[in-house]
Amino acid sequence: MATEKQDSSRKRPPNFRIEIPGDETVKSRILEKLQKVKGYLTSTLNKPVNNSLIIEELLDFWIKQQLGSDNSKELHPFPSTYSQTRSQDVDQGLFVTAEKSLDTYGELYEAHTSICNGKLKVLKRTMKGHVASVRLMCTKEKSHSYLWSSSSYLPNDEFLVNHRICHAFYSSGLLPVHYTRFVNGAGIGCITKERRLKFFRTYKEHAENESVQSVDNAINDEISSYDDLDGINIMTDARHGWRKNAKDTTVVALGEKTHKVMDCEHITKSQDKVAQRHERLGTQIIYENLENKNVSIKIHAHDRNLAVNKFVRDTQFTVNQNDLWHAVKAVKKLSPRFPKVPNVQRV
Ligand SMILES: [Zn+2]
Repeated sequence: MATEKQDSSRKRPPNFRIEIPGDETVKSRILEKLQKVKGYLTSTLNKPVNNSLIIEELLDFWIKQQLGSDNSKELHPFPSTYSQTRSQDVDQGLFVTAEKSLDTYGELYEAHTSICNGKLKVLKRTMKGHVASVRLMCTKEKSHSYLWSSSSYLPNDEFLVNHRICHAFYSSGLLPVHYTRFVNGAGIGCITKERRLKFFRTYKEHAENESVQSVDNAINDEISSYDDLDGINIMTDARHGWRKNAKDTTVVALGEKTHKVMDCEHITKSQDKVAQRHERLGTQIIYENLENKNVSIKIHAHDRNLAVNKFVRDTQFTVNQNDLWHAVKAVKKLSPRFPKVPNVQRV
């Protein structure tokens, strides 16, 4: 469809062509309708109208009819969700949020848009641990002010996000100084020492319960992996808190079949001030714990800690095996040397 004929003496305004398929009949039909609309618009607007005005009027009329006036906004382009950070924005506040909180934000924004055409902007952001408490203010109406948190609350009125991060912190083995350096470097807020300790007191109880449950399950799994029920094979090793003169030691016992933790003992200087004796003490406690659960140890593989060697030799039922952690084959080689004696079944 060509634009309206212009007087050749005047400069032609910018124009474009739209191609409409159709023969002469279609052409005359469409032009007739256009002419009708043109006549109507010229009289109501009281000014000359061109093809682009006619078509836009027609399209707007149709959109209003089909989509309703509110939804006509949908035809406007959405802002791009891919945005590049400007150099002055790299130090902007970061925080941790939860999916559901993002949904809440969307609902809040929608509800506001339904009553007002102003925009919600961040007026103030307060960090509560890793959670941002954000004051949103409407650009048009000051009474449209809302508070949004990047996390929902738990029944104890604390933030889910902060609890989750505390959980991550305590289960990761990070030292407090590493945590504070990390979060301060990232600029994602920081949970105060007092709050972390408060969390820890409750967390400790639950972690201990879980640990007891997990060890019990692991022992059952290990026992059921043997054809003969006359005991299990374990491997132990100690990990020292410091290289020299360790202030504490953790001794771990793994089941040979399942490689699951049969027991884990943490020995500190309050129990024995000589660090060199920690591994032996830890081993002794592991033996006592397993004995209390009526589990006997057939073969005990460990590295060459002489005190542990002596301790294992002193126990009646267990065979000592100086071995590396994963040298399971060497442990197995020893197994046939044990006669199957029914009356030593203690498991
Ligand atoms: Zn508003």
